[in-house]
Amino acid sequence: MTQQERAAEYQDAQRALSAQLVEEMAPLWELIRLGAFATTVPAWIEAVLELLRRFAGMSGTLAADHYADERDTAGVRGIFQPTPAEIPPGKAEASLRWAVKDLWISKADNPPPIEERLAAAEEKASGVAQKIVADVGRDTIVQAMGEDPEVLGWGRTTGPDACFFCALMASRGPVYESEETAGGSANDQFEGEGKYKFHDHCDCTVYPVFRGQRWEPPAYVDEWDRLYTVSTGSERGTQAKLRAFRRAFEGRED
Ligand SMILES: [Zn+2]
Repeated sequence: MTQQERAAEYQDAQRALSAQLVEEMAPLWELIRLGAFATTVPAWIEAVLELLRRFAGMSGTLAADHYADERDTAGVRGIFQPTPAEIPPGKAEASLRWAVKDLWISKADNPPPIEERLAAAEEKASGVAQKIVADVGRDTIVQAMGEDPEVLGWGRTTGPDACFFCALMASRGPVYESEETAGGSANDQFEGEGKYKFHDHCDCTVYPVFRGQRWEPPAYVDEWDRLYTVSTGSERGTQAKLRAFRRAFEGRED
């Protein structure tokens, strides 16, 4: 199996975990009762938090095992077992509260009917839950970079049906720990968090690149990179480039 195939297989495993999470989360929504949000929403949050902790554990273990397998395959020196990451303290509670906050919009603001708001809140909640669990897997691999001297960087595995944002991120190639290890040609376009940006419902995963390895992206990622160059050549500034790439990406024929 090539590194590309192994990365895709790992993405499938994380994707299956996300699907299972969404499935197990759905019946918990029944805990929320119209006219009794003050007591039933906190009960729902508690139940979801427990579910998230369980799935985060699985996501972290899956990622740590993937990392260890990749390390073995790369044949680098020494032994290193990554520690599975955890949900950052308070993060899950805050995200779930954000997902359901519109249930409390006051009548004065002329909100949509409660049925609509409930459906929207459930959709948001499943998105943040998926991201929280998937992030634990991503964090596990990115965190290992700080501790394992044999890992050079990490990249983003993005499927062929990605949205323009993930396509753009993936087309930038792996993120190396330093300009030096990247051969001085890192083409980062974004400030701040850089390429470590994932949206709700995003099924992108992270793969490690070890000493001696060279990542060969799937053909569709090369195509995205080509599209970026062609569509943004005459644009100035990050926002203008983003818009130009989005237009080109969403308007392309498959
Ligand atoms: Zn994505």
